[in-house]
Formats: sequence, structure tokens, C-alpha cells
Amino acid sequence: MAEEQSTRQSQRLQRNKVLKEQRRRNPFWEARWAWGRIKGRAGNLYGNNPQYATVEVRMTRDEFLAWAIPAYTEWYRTHPAENPSIDRIESDKHYESGNLQLLTLSENSLKTKRLKNVYAPPGQAWCTIHKAYLPKDQFYKSDRQRYGVTTECRECVKLKTAQRHSLTFIKRGRRGRRSPRLITYLGKSQTVTQWSVEMNIGQQALFSRLNNGWDVERALTTPMRPKRKLA
Ligand SMILES: [Zn+2]
Repeated sequence: MAEEQSTRQSQRLQRNKVLKEQRRRNPFWEARWAWGRIKGRAGNLYGNNPQYATVEVRMTRDEFLAWAIPAYTEWYRTHPAENPSIDRIESDKHYESGNLQLLTLSENSLKTKRLKNVYAPPGQAWCTIHKAYLPKDQFYKSDRQRYGVTTECRECVKLKTAQRHSLTFIKRGRRGRRSPRLITYLGKSQTVTQWSVEMNIGQQALFSRLNNGWDVERALTTPMRPKRKLA
């Protein structure tokens, strides 16, 4: 019984997922979802984002849909690959008619005041380590960053990389795989494993002898204790 129920439940979830996928980029549905998101965000109803505590929705659902459905339709016609996000043209104002537009997510987040680069003087960019505006040519170009340059200037990027490498150097001896320990005895250097074969001593035994502080000669020349035979 319980099994049957869970099968039915998972079937329903699966169906909802498919349904949602089919409704993607459909202006009718996207506009409705957007309305739900706005209602949830404004006034910080769910406590997710205090920035929205003072933002209000000053339009009815019908007014919103009357704007949104044509707007989404137009968007999907002109932006085959990008999904829009709803922007308040003047961010001091509320969700109200005349103050809404669709933007790509990256355009929209560029408007955020906390992004220093949005308010950068022309030709300059913000270095998050220097905490200052520097000429843009002191930065590496980056397609992954919204402003087209890395978040730190070249100097800081280099410094950080060097620091990271020196940390690995201290920790691991060198980057990547640790080099094997070489044991020198009678003028010959080889790894512990090679010695264990040559001297007919178990590899584990040899490792633990050396790790327990035996000197090289004693570790290599002491014969193995014969294994106790079971009677
Ligand atoms: Zn810097």
C-alpha cells in the first residue's frame, strides 16, 4: 500500500516536472510565476532578503499580467537564448505600472549599488584587494566577469597565486605528487620498495622500521622474524 502510494507520488512529481518544462518560456505561465515571485519578494515576506523590506507591490495581478504577458512575448521573440528578469526601472520606486522592464539577469544585477564597478569612473575598475579604483589596463581581461575584467588587479592576482603556491610548497614539499623517499645504504640510493625487494624484507616492515626511527643499516640488515606457524 505504502509502496503504491510512493509510486503514485513520484509519478505526480515527474508529471509536474515535465509540465513545468513545457511551460518554460511560455509568456502566459512565465508572467504568472513572475507575479508569484514579486509577491514573495516585496515586503520581504519570507525574510529572505531584507533589501526588499520597504518595496511594495502597487498594482493588481491583472494590471501586472496585462503588462507582463506582452512583455514576455516580445522578449522571447527577440531573445531566443536568454531568460529575462523583471527590473524596477527606478529602484527607489515600487512594483507599479510604468516602472517595470525586462532585462537579462546580468544587466539587472549590474544595477546593484554594492557592485563597485557599476559606479567606476570611466576607464577604471575596482580591485577588491586594493579596495580602490585602478586603471582598467592594470587588470586581466575576463569573459566570466560582468565588467570584462577580473575582480582583482594583475598585481593582486599574481600575489595571490604566488602565495597559494608557496603554501602548497610548505605543505606538500612541491606541487602535486610527493616524490618517493630515497634510502641510501652502501653508496646506493633506492626507494624503500626497491630495498625491500633487494634485501628480502617485507615492504610494510621496512616502512615501519624506518618510521620508528631505526637507522638505515639496522633496518636493512635485520632479518625478518620468521612467521609463527600455526600448529
Ligand atoms: Zn589590486
